[in-house]
Amino acid sequence: AGPTVLITGCSSGIGLALAVRLARDKPAPVPPVIATMRNVGRSGALAAAAGPAMGRTLEIKQLDVCDESSIRACLDSIPGRHVDILVSNAGVGMAGPLECQSLAAMQNLMDTNFFGLVRLVKEVLPDMKRRRGGHIVVISSIMGLQGIVFNDIYSASKFAVEGFCESLVVQALRFNVAISLVEPGPVMTEFETKLYEEAERADYSRTDPETAEIFTKLYLRNSRDVFTSLGRGQSRAHVQHTLRVIEAARPPFRHQTNVAYTPMAALKHADPSGALITDAFYKLVFKYDAVLRFGLRAIRLLRWKAQKVKAGARLLGFK
Ligand code: NAD
Repeated sequence: AGPTVLITGCSSGIGLALAVRLARDKPAPVPPVIATMRNVGRSGALAAAAGPAMGRTLEIKQLDVCDESSIRACLDSIPGRHVDILVSNAGVGMAGPLECQSLAAMQNLMDTNFFGLVRLVKEVLPDMKRRRGGHIVVISSIMGLQGIVFNDIYSASKFAVEGFCESLVVQALRFNVAISLVEPGPVMTEFETKLYEEAERADYSRTDPETAEIFTKLYLRNSRDVFTSLGRGQSRAHVQHTLRVIEAARPPFRHQTNVAYTPMAALKHADPSGALITDAFYKLVFKYDAVLRFGLRAIRLLRWKAQKVKAGARLLGFK
C-alpha cells in the first residue's frame, strides 16, 4: 500500500487541486487521499473535480484547523491514526491598511494560518516520531520570506510558520521525519477573490485619505496586474511543484514554486542591512508605472531582436 496523505483546506483552490491530482494518480486499492475541509457541506466542487476517484481513491473528512477536537476526531477516524504525509494547506489572507482591520480578524488569521499548523503538528508528529517516518508539507508563501506592502498581518503569519518549521526541522530530522515549506507566489484562486471582496467592504474612514488612496488605487490595481501576469497558470504549476516535493526521495526544506520570486528572496540575503530590498519594493510600489513602462519597452525590444535573429537565421538558410 502507498502512503496515507491528509490535506487540509480542500474545499477550494490549491488544496482541492492537489487532492484531485493525488487521487487521480493513485491506483486503487490504496489508502485513499484524505481531503479535509472545515465545512463538508462545501464539498461539491471537490467531488465534481474528483469524478470517479470520489470514494475510491479520495475520501472527504471534516477538519477545522482552529478546533483541536475536530482535528482529533478526524485523526481518530483513520486506522491507527496513521498519516504518512500531512499537507497543511488551509489558510486565509488579509490585505489593507492596518487601521482598517480589527484585532479579532487579525487574531483569527493567526489562529488559522499559524496555530492551525501548530495544532496539526502537535497531533501528527508524535506518531510520526514513534514510527520514525513521515513528511509534513506546509503551504507557506513567498510572503513568509519577504513582507509585502499592505500584507502586514498575513505576512507575519507566514513568517511565524517559517520560524516554527525552521526550528522544528532539526529535531524532526533526528526521527527521520521530513518537513518541507512550499512557498508559492501569486496563484489565482478564491484567495484573491476573497481579498478583493473584503477590500470593497472595508471601512477606509479609519485611515487617512492618502493611505486609503494608495491601497485602493495603487495597491489593488498593481495586485490585480501581478495576479493576472504572474498568477495565471500557477495553479497547475503549483500542484506539479508540490507533488515533486511530496514524492522526493530527499524532500527539500524550502521550495519556491514561482521562479519569478527567487531574485526577491535572494535580494534580502544579498544585503543584510535590508536597504536594497526596501528600496526595490518602494520603487515597485510607488514608481510602478515607470517600472511597467520600462518592462513593456524591454519586452518590445526583445521581440524586435528575436525577429531580427529569426530573419538573419533565415538568410543563412536555417529553418
Ligand atoms: P483558498 O481560499 O481557495 O483556499 C484556502 C482553504 O482553506 C479554503 O478552502 C478555506 O475554506 C480553508 N480554510 C480556511 N480556514 C480554515 C479552517 N479553520 N479549517 C480548515 N480549512 C480552512 O486559497 P488558496 O490559494 O488555495 O490557499 C491555500 C494556501 O495557499 C493558503 O495557506 C494560502 O495562504 C497559501 N498561498 C496562496 C497563495 C495564492 O496566491 N493563492 C499564495 C501563497 C500562498
